[in-house]
Amino acid sequence: MTAELRVDLDAFAENLRAVRRAVAPAEHMLVVKDDAYGHGLGTIVQRAWAEGVRWFGAFDVRTGSAVRTRLGVAPRVFVWIVASAAEAQEAVDADLDVGVGDAVLLEDLAAVDGVARVHLKIDTGLHRNGVRPEEWPVVVARAAELERAGRIEVVGVWSHIAEASHEEDDAARAVFETAWDQARAAGLRPRLRHLAASAAGFARDEFRYDLVRIGAFAYGIRPAGGPGESELGIHPISALVTRVVRVSTDTVTVGTGSLDGLPSSLAGHLEAGTSAGASLVRAIRLEESDLDAWPGAAIGDEVRMLGAGAPFSATDAAETVGTIGEEIAVRIAPTVARVVR
Ligand SMILES: *Cc1c(COP(=O)(O)O)cnc(C)c1O
Repeated sequence: MTAELRVDLDAFAENLRAVRRAVAPAEHMLVVKDDAYGHGLGTIVQRAWAEGVRWFGAFDVRTGSAVRTRLGVAPRVFVWIVASAAEAQEAVDADLDVGVGDAVLLEDLAAVDGVARVHLKIDTGLHRNGVRPEEWPVVVARAAELERAGRIEVVGVWSHIAEASHEEDDAARAVFETAWDQARAAGLRPRLRHLAASAAGFARDEFRYDLVRIGAFAYGIRPAGGPGESELGIHPISALVTRVVRVSTDTVTVGTGSLDGLPSSLAGHLEAGTSAGASLVRAIRLEESDLDAWPGAAIGDEVRMLGAGAPFSATDAAETVGTIGEEIAVRIAPTVARVVR
C-alpha cells in the first residue's frame, strides 16, 4: 500500500477559470459531493473560495455543514439530500440553502426554528427526486402560503437533467420553463434558476440560467465518449502515484491494487506511466499490481497509475470498462493519502 493521490491545486484553479469563462454570466456552483469527487473536501473548498467561487453544491447536510465549518459564514452552500426533520433543522442552523423535491420536506422546513432558504425542485424526467409536474401547482401554492406566513423563503427553482441527448434535455427544459411560470403565477418571486451540470453548462447557452452546478469538469474529468480535455480547456488535477515493490525478468510489481480503489477489471487495459514510458498493467490484486517490465526498473521507483502525467486519465480508464470518470475518481480509497501541492 504505497499509493498516494497527488492533487495539484494550481491545475484545479485553472479549471475553475475555464469553468467561469464557459458559464459566464451565470455563476458557477462548485459541486463537492463524495469528498469533492475523491480529491479531499477541505483543501478543495478552501482553494475554490480563494479563487472566487461563492456557491458550493454539497449534496447532503453533513457535507454542507463541513463546508460551512471550513469557510465560515460567507459562501452560499446548497444541499439537496435532507433525510429527516432533524436534518432540516441542522441545515437551517448551518445556514444552508436547501433543495426541496417533495412536499414532506417542505413541511419539515416550514416547521424548523429559523427561516429556511428553499430551492424548489421540479422533476424534469430523471425521476430521482423532484416534484412531479402534475403535483407542482399544489406544491408551489403551498410554498407561497408558507412564504407569506414567514416560515420559508423560496429563492430558487431547479432541476437536474440527464445530459445524454439534446432532445431529452430540450424536453426537460420545456418542463422546467413551465414550472418556473407556474411558480411565479403562484406568487413566488425566486431569483435563481439552475438546471445544468458540466456537459450542458459548457455546451448549451440556454441551459445556464443563473447558476450552473459543475463538479466533473472543475476536477478535470471529461465526459466518457464526449469532447476531450483540450477542447474543453480543462486538465486532470490529480494523479494516483505508487512505487515499485518487486522486479523480475518480465514483471514489475507496484504497491497498489483494488483495495486502493483501482477496479481489477482495468487489468489488461490500463497503461501506467513509468520512467521508460507507458507499461501495461497486466494484473490488479488487492494490494499489488503487475506491470510489463521496463528497462532499468528498480524498487522504490515512482509509477503513475492514473491521472495527470499518466497515459490514462480517469475517464480513459473508465471508457475501457464501460463506466464514467467520476466513478473511477470517487473509488480511490479514503486510506490513500491525499497529497496536495
Ligand atoms: C453531481 C451533480 C452535479 C454535478 O454534475 P457534474 O456532471 O459532475 O458536473 C450537479 N447537480 C446535481 C444535482 C448533482 O448530483
